[in-house]
Amino acid sequence: MERRKAVLIILDGVGDRANRNLDNMTPLQYANTPNLDRIARESVVGLMDPISPGIRAGSDTSHLNILGYDPYEYYTGRGPFEAAGLDMDLMPGDIAFRCNFATVNDDLVVVDRRAGRIKEGTEELLKDLNGIWIEDVQIFIKPGVEHRAALVLRGPGLSPAVSDVDPHDTGVKIHEAKPLEKGAEKTARILNKFVLLAYDKLKNHPINKSREERGLKPANIILPRGAGMVPHLRNFEEMHGLKAACVVGTPLIRGICKIAGIEPIEVEGATGGYDTDMIAKMNAVLENLERYDFILVNIKAPDLAGHDMDPRRKVEVIERVDHAVGYLMDNLPEETVLVVTADHSTPCTVGDHSGDPVPIMIHAPDSRREGSEFNEISVTTGSLRIRASDMMNLILNHTNRAEKFGA
Ligand code: ZN
Ligand code: ZN
Repeated sequence: MERRKAVLIILDGVGDRANRNLDNMTPLQYANTPNLDRIARESVVGLMDPISPGIRAGSDTSHLNILGYDPYEYYTGRGPFEAAGLDMDLMPGDIAFRCNFATVNDDLVVVDRRAGRIKEGTEELLKDLNGIWIEDVQIFIKPGVEHRAALVLRGPGLSPAVSDVDPHDTGVKIHEAKPLEKGAEKTARILNKFVLLAYDKLKNHPINKSREERGLKPANIILPRGAGMVPHLRNFEEMHGLKAACVVGTPLIRGICKIAGIEPIEVEGATGGYDTDMIAKMNAVLENLERYDFILVNIKAPDLAGHDMDPRRKVEVIERVDHAVGYLMDNLPEETVLVVTADHSTPCTVGDHSGDPVPIMIHAPDSRREGSEFNEISVTTGSLRIRASDMMNLILNHTNRAEKFGA
């Protein structure tokens, strides 16, 4: 039995519902996808629930489930994965938050949740805050893209069960973090102390003085949200026997991969946006397949079009995806297993993630040939009706790596 390698392509949020603007078809049905359809005809096909039927998955919980980590056990909030995606050094038990640099007035009322989409100086602004101690807890903070940052609390007796400081709105006072369960009082207290301490330091910071002189909004406060505890994920290779890498643009998914020990491959032009260079991502897969057994690829653009409730844009994105996946297929070594699916549906009629299942196809040289076209409707004639927690078993089976259960 030849042990194969596998490439798993996640078309983020590609699943959808019937759309009146597309003759009551889904964007996948409506789009012209000769390459995806050609692969479907040589694949095992069907539908997959990212968590279980009807559950609206986040990208984070779904990716965890796909990779073999039960999100109900390991997921407490997205903060840790965002922080890991920014390459912060994390330890199991750390409490992490996503943050915004924001602008508040003297009464701590939010004027701008993104501090005028600040682009420069964030590193400098955080310099005196990173590494400080509040009581017996050490604080780490690192800037991300533009107004984004991640915050980590490390110390004894901390809990992820605290509410957001970010009020998620302008014209209202920042919220005080509250404990959401017994035992979270200390975390809420430290977090509130940190926010006020940061405000004290930032409001008179030379960078903010200079911003105000230039008519720009000062980044005078940090608003944490999305608390979560850094989970101890068993190493992916240890668990599945696959040396793994990922080609992923968004920090959230990159962070999940990092915590699981899946190595991110950096790709020039992979932005996680509409403008992402999909062919560059596929070339990164082809160039690295020699060194790995398994490569995860996430393409974020379909999800963005779903959130934007723009079915025409989603069709256009899907047609670009089709071209890129066709390019990959034509250049992959013949023995490679190729899986194409989504992490959840983001219907253009909803503008957010829904609980609808997503299409999946698994292509191997000897896979049963079940499909006709790759879309939510056509794949229902295939044999698969699975949950994402079945994914790694299916990949191990089709790569001829699964261990026999019994004699
Ligand atoms: Zn997603
Ligand atoms: Zn989304």
